Order: sequence, then C-alpha cells, then structure tokens
Amino acid sequence: MAHLRDMQNQNTRLDPEEYFTKQERIGKGSFGEVYKGINNRTKEVVAIKIIDLEEAEDEIEDIQQEITVLSQCDSPFVTKYYGSYLKGTKLWIIMEYLGGGSALDLLRPGPLEETYIATILREILKGLEYLHSERKIHRDIKAANVLLSEQGEVKLADFGVAGQLTDTQIKRNTFVGTPFWMAPEVIKQSAYDFKRPTAKELLKHKFITRYTKKTAYLTELIDRYRRWKSEGHGEESSSDDSDMDADGDTDTCPMWTFPTVRPSSMNKLQKSYTDSESGDSVKRQPKSQCLSALVTPIFRELKEKRRATGGGVGAIEELENAFNLAEESCPGISDRLVTHMMERVCRFSLNGNTTPSSR
Ligand code: ATP
Repeated sequence: MAHLRDMQNQNTRLDPEEYFTKQERIGKGSFGEVYKGINNRTKEVVAIKIIDLEEAEDEIEDIQQEITVLSQCDSPFVTKYYGSYLKGTKLWIIMEYLGGGSALDLLRPGPLEETYIATILREILKGLEYLHSERKIHRDIKAANVLLSEQGEVKLADFGVAGQLTDTQIKRNTFVGTPFWMAPEVIKQSAYDFKRPTAKELLKHKFITRYTKKTAYLTELIDRYRRWKSEGHGEESSSDDSDMDADGDTDTCPMWTFPTVRPSSMNKLQKSYTDSESGDSVKRQPKSQCLSALVTPIFRELKEKRRATGGGVGAIEELENAFNLAEESCPGISDRLVTHMMERVCRFSLNGNTTPSSR
C-alpha cells in the first residue's frame, strides 16, 4: 500500500497497545473513532484517535496534514499532540484528553449566556492569535471543533483542513471548511489569509474585554451538560453519527451538523459523479451525509406543515424520492448539490444581488 508508506513520522516499530490502554469510545469523526485511554507508564489520561488507513484511502493527505500541523503546535489553546503509531493498517494518534466536551455539546441543553460565549470566544481568539503568529490557518472553526478540558480550558481541535502560509504562498483560495461556518471570503473563493479584523484586534473588542470571566467558570457549563445527559438526554456526543436515528433525527439542529468540506471530499464527490456519468464500475462511494442531516428532516417538516393545513404531500414525496433515487445511482451527489447551492446562495447574498447569479 503506497499510501501507508507515505505516512511520515509515524512510529511503525512500537506496538501502541503496549504503551496505552484503550478505554471507552468518546467520539466519531469522518476519519475514525476517538477513545479515552491511559498511558500505561505515566497513568496520564489521553485521547486516542484510531483511523483505518485502508478505509481512509482518499483522506491520507488530510490526516497527514492534521498530524503535521498538530505536531508543530505548542500552545495551551491548541489540543496537544503526543505522537502517532502505525499498527497494521490502523493509525493511532495520541492526544491530550479534553473531557469537558465540545462547545457544540455544551450548547445542547440550551442557549448560553453572553458571559460564557465571550469567555469561550476569548480563548478561541487566543488560539487563533497563536496559530496566525505561526502563519497557520485553521479553516474549520466551529463549535464541534472547540473542545474543553474538565477544568474549563478551551482548545482548538481538528486540524484536518488547516493550511500553512509560506513566503511564496501568502494567500489561499481553497473552498474548505463547513458551509454554515465559513468566512465570506472563503465562500466567495477570493484570496484569503488569516486577516479579517485580526484575532489580536478582536481580543480588544468590548464584548471580549467587558463580558469575560475566568475559564474555570466554564465548568458550570460542563456540569449543566452532564446533568442534562444524566437526565437521559442525548445518549452520545453531538459529533457522533449514532446521534441520528434511522430517520435522520438528531437532538441538535441539523443545520449545525453539516459536515466539513475538504479538498479530498470534493475530489471524491467529483469522481463519483464523473464515474457514474460515464458508466464506469467503481468502488461505491458513501451516501451523502446531508440526506440524514438536512434532506430528510426538511422534507418531514414540509410534509407536517402541508398536512396541518389539509394539503396533499404527493409532490413533496416525489421530490424526496428523487433525492433517494439519485443517491442510489450516484452516491454523494446530494452533498455535492447542497454544497454548490450554498456556495451560490452565499455569493449571491454577499454580492447584494437582487436575482441569483447564473454564473
Ligand atoms: P470531523 O473530523 O469529521 O470534522 P470531528 O472533529 O468531530 O469530525 P474527530 O476529531 O475525529 O472528528 O473527533 C470526534 C469527536 O471525538 C470530537 O467531536 C470529540 O467529541 C471527541 N474528541 C476528539 N478529540 C478529543 C480529545 N482530544 N479529547 C476528548 N475528546 C475528543
């Protein structure tokens, strides 16, 4: 497997199971699963992300990128990286354990008061200030990628689409990130770097200077989330796919669970589209995540509204079936369609147009 040889800086001789004891699963991302673990020697609690590289063939570059960026970071505002091990086709990435949950988890019991929002924002800005001083750009800042320690410290996580600006490449224009969280210049695909006001400038904004408290106060949110869970709400973390039942039902608003758009996912969708158009037989691509996160809940809502007013739902069902049929013949096509529609709508509203651009 050429791509396994491509993975650099991984410990291939040491058996991770001798050094770490894997415990319960704490989350699931698009690359793999995350477990709580113990460093057998120091007894320190760690997080272990396990990725099957055979299944993640197309994402090897993104994974390598995440490891490279994380290993170069040294900041209290960025998840610490301890090393990685290759065992067979499984890659074990060992990281600092952040047991307070993600900002998305903490939102699940209900809205946050402004002091908590300002405090979390201040810590995110400190993380961005550090990254930007290293000329790194995260490109996927969203609630699910902001993790808290049990003491309330806030850290940036998930560097799968992070970029490095260099002397020769001082701006980027790749369309990556998560549509609902993307900055206008990323959606417009104009050249961008780390600037908008800068993170340093935003740290001086009165919302941050007036409303913030010590991070230790954030443990109140962690306690609220734990109480909410102990009352039987949300069985798993919001980042976990198993949150969604067969109907795509989710405790969080589906709008906020839209997946990250990566260069590799765009290439994969493009490939699946081209291959199915040309009739080539190819390895089947996974079905679109937007079916369960967006399409099914939206159509259900539309049908409920129609029924409440005594209207028929035939046309809505036909449209929903069309999505499912298209997915059967070309898995991934709906994600591609939604991403393109989002991009067009955002460009249209940013340009202040009165009619959608046909460009
Ligand atoms: P994606 O990679 O698809 O953008 P993601 O960021 O949720 O999704 P992962 O980085 O694999 O994917 O993480 C999955 C989940 O595991 C996180 O949302 C979080 O709940 C948990 N998790 C990740 N890293 C840690 C960590 N260092 N400590 C504690 N929990 C973690």
